[in-house]
Amino acid sequence: MIRISSSFDGGNILCDTCADASDIQLQIKTDSAADFSQWFYFRLTGGQGLPCVMKITNADKASYVKGWEGYQAVASYDRENWFRVDTVYENGHLVIRHTPDVNAVYYAYFAPYSMERHSDLIADAGQSPDVFLSVLGETLDGQDMDLLTIGEPAPEKKAYWLVARQHPGETMAEWWMEGFLSRLLDEDDAVSRALLEKICFYVVPNMNPDGSRRGHLRTNAAGANLNREWSEPEMNKSPEVYLVRQKMQSTGVDFCLDVHGDEGLPYNFIAGTQGIPSWTAEKDRLLTDFKRLWQQVNPDFQTTHGYPAAPKGKGNLAMCGNYVAETFGCLAMTLEMPFKDTADTPNELWGWSPERSKKFGASVIDVLHQLDDRLTLPTK
Ligand code: ZN
Repeated sequence: MIRISSSFDGGNILCDTCADASDIQLQIKTDSAADFSQWFYFRLTGGQGLPCVMKITNADKASYVKGWEGYQAVASYDRENWFRVDTVYENGHLVIRHTPDVNAVYYAYFAPYSMERHSDLIADAGQSPDVFLSVLGETLDGQDMDLLTIGEPAPEKKAYWLVARQHPGETMAEWWMEGFLSRLLDEDDAVSRALLEKICFYVVPNMNPDGSRRGHLRTNAAGANLNREWSEPEMNKSPEVYLVRQKMQSTGVDFCLDVHGDEGLPYNFIAGTQGIPSWTAEKDRLLTDFKRLWQQVNPDFQTTHGYPAAPKGKGNLAMCGNYVAETFGCLAMTLEMPFKDTADTPNELWGWSPERSKKFGASVIDVLHQLDDRLTLPTK
């Protein structure tokens, strides 16, 4: 007998019928207090050797329907290796066809990053003598807002901020953080050691613990899209942003990277803050150089495709990158990774993956090292 379940950390699905393996009908639940949906994560048991056909019948109501075009779902038997499975979007349904080798298999929109794994990441980082863990406060569901301070803060040191997963369904953002942290804390890595001499890093690997645990795509427990809350965050609606912003004001910010995933575009790219009122030609050169250098050190990154830049003065200051760039006068950027794969450097079996996200996260260390001298602008 087939069974579908999702009552676990990050799970999301509704099962309408699974009586027949060849006609399993499912629906994605919207975020609990907002009308966003696309993230799914469930377990199928009892399907060993059966050609299972799983139809997500409300896929046409998802937040980014273009995200289904050319998209392959991920599956795993051991919850470590997430491989791609045959998926098509047809007649408004997302149809996943797979014959499981074993009795229990997990399916998801992208390799999940559970809150348990988040706790492991924080605990592991805490073993480093360079790391100080602080809890900025509490989310609406009562979870800790974890901040890792890496390196000893000092007046002559610059403050670099990296935050990820404001949108909880964009799990590649926390996989990216895992790779970034692992390299930054590697005592045998000369580049990381050199950076930590001059820079204090403030890292929030998960900006949205409640949405992550609840299996949301885009919002927190109150239905707030955190990347639209930066101009006026409130403790009763968006404490995650309120607390991080407050801490930024006390440390100052010399550089900020906000890490995301994009449902539609099969590329890694950076969105800059050209729309802020204080944008200058000098900042534009720095942004261009940052992107060019990253492309040189990691061919999974590219600069051809991305979002169109907002005209100067038209940027939305409620978004993290724009808010930080305008408030602190520093280079702040939004990084986007694909849910699908990179069109220029594809991998048919895995698509864009946790492993590639991690290596990509580690590679930014080289860019920061090479541009370090320029990352505090003379205006500061
Ligand atoms: Zn996002």
